[in-house]
Amino acid sequence: MSNFWIYESHTPGYEVRWGITGILHQETTPFQKLDVVETVEFGKALILDGCLQIAEKDEFIYHEMIVHIPMLSHPHPARVLIIGGGDGGTLREVVRHPELRSVDMVEIDEQVIKASKRFFPQVASAFSDERLNLYIADGIEFARGQQGPYDVIIVDSSDPVGPAEQLFTEKFYRDLANLLDEEGMLVVQSESPMFYADYFQNTYKNMANVFPITQVYTASIPTYVSGPWTFTVGSKKHRADNIADNKTVPSSLRYYNKEIHKAAFALPEFMRQMLE
Ligand code: SAM
Repeated sequence: MSNFWIYESHTPGYEVRWGITGILHQETTPFQKLDVVETVEFGKALILDGCLQIAEKDEFIYHEMIVHIPMLSHPHPARVLIIGGGDGGTLREVVRHPELRSVDMVEIDEQVIKASKRFFPQVASAFSDERLNLYIADGIEFARGQQGPYDVIIVDSSDPVGPAEQLFTEKFYRDLANLLDEEGMLVVQSESPMFYADYFQNTYKNMANVFPITQVYTASIPTYVSGPWTFTVGSKKHRADNIADNKTVPSSLRYYNKEIHKAAFALPEFMRQMLE
């Protein structure tokens, strides 16, 4: 039994506590409070503004699912944009794809990248990839610019508070759609349908107002608030539940496989009703 506990509050009536063996790092960046702790059950964890972002034991689930679903359903994802994702896990998965020619990454807080390189080197393992162009900038402003076109855009954002709040709006999705190629695809993490129902539903609605095809898929990620976690894909042409022809799944994955790709789009009835 741990003697030290940290608390993660989700709603007025629900919080999670984590037994920890130590606080490895604490700082207040210009954008958020950043903590790295050693947990008893899940290895080291990165926490921003009191919300757990990644933990060593299960980060692979989130990162594989946010990346390989769009990368394997798009027939030729050569040009990729990542918004957020400062820990580097999404980048690590993107660079596994041989079709990749360039990846732009826009992270607002350089301190997250520095902390990840120091405490999570196995997650922050691809920052030296020569196909990467790293921008330390606000993703909202970047989206209003003229970069691109991109084949796949991945919004790996923190929860919709603080600097990430605007990353869940229709305006933002519209700006990103303008940066996408005519066959392009946008994927975002869209929160828990149980605990953050409003964000989940609004993300879908906002995305469906912009894209001809909008689909939701789920994964269970133990360190995120209990139950299924959702991802929403907006696409101009290709369905995200369909694996494109002649695709090879990157080797050494621990969660994603072709059966999971299909199964992840099977939604429970209450979620289908929430999206009607
Ligand atoms: N997997 C995580 C989760 O769902 O909890 C999120 C990972 S990642 C650490 C989220 C990143 O988004 C953070 O590093 C944060 O600094 C970044 N971020 C938040 N708002 C942003 C913005 N407006 N532009 C660019 N990056 C942003």
